[in-house]
Amino acid sequence: MNKIAIMGAMPEEIAPILEIVGEYKTTEYAGNVYYEANYKGTDLVVAHSKIGKVFSTLTASSMIQHFGCNKLLFSGVAGGINPSLKIGDLIVATKLSQHDLDITAFGHPMGFVPGGSVFVEADKGLIALSKEVAQELGKTVQEGIIATGDQFVHNQSIKDEIVKNFNADALEMEGGSVAVVCDALNVPFFILRAISDTADTDASFSFDEFMESSAVISAEFVMKMVDKIVSPLNNTK
Ligand code: SAH
Repeated sequence: MNKIAIMGAMPEEIAPILEIVGEYKTTEYAGNVYYEANYKGTDLVVAHSKIGKVFSTLTASSMIQHFGCNKLLFSGVAGGINPSLKIGDLIVATKLSQHDLDITAFGHPMGFVPGGSVFVEADKGLIALSKEVAQELGKTVQEGIIATGDQFVHNQSIKDEIVKNFNADALEMEGGSVAVVCDALNVPFFILRAISDTADTDASFSFDEFMESSAVISAEFVMKMVDKIVSPLNNTK
């Protein structure tokens, strides 16, 4: 039986999801609010974690270990690095890294600590499903590498550094940590982001202007994926 976690970082990222879900029960746990619903016959748990790697780690592990979710979809916004990504465009993470994890002083590559890996790969089945959904909706969804760190990036030289180290297409503040949790707990996960800014000097203005509209674009797409997952025709996925 599927129990699907749908998470965002900020309230605006999950508001459109809760609107589509309609009815839900609210539970407080570990300093966050979790919204539990039965959606078209499948149990969902929706939550926003608050911003950053630590809060998103706590929420992802709570959704899996406390609420019993066995699939996780993240919906939100990101700063675009790849010049082909414009405001409102969707990017699906193929793999994710932590761009600020730095023990290079000991000769390790950026993003690496012993026992971990520079990149964590997202679930291929969910990525394939996103392609089907994109095709059905006539939407373009780019696949790419997402770099995560505890920093709102608004600076070209930091962007350049992240490209040099990780060849990343977009950056944000939660995906890489959620990926580590899901990978460790063997839960298939999918990270979707719509571009809110391009992480340059204007990023905070662009973010304020487009965060809400981009959050809706991402949330609506993720719910189309949920529709496919819960559909009886797809009950193996
Ligand atoms: N305006 C908010 C802070 C937003 S932080 C406030 O004042 O409370 C940015 C959020 O959007 C994070 O959750 C992150 O995942 C994502 N994001 C979008 N653009 C980003 C960028 N340029 N750098 C890092 N994270 C970004």
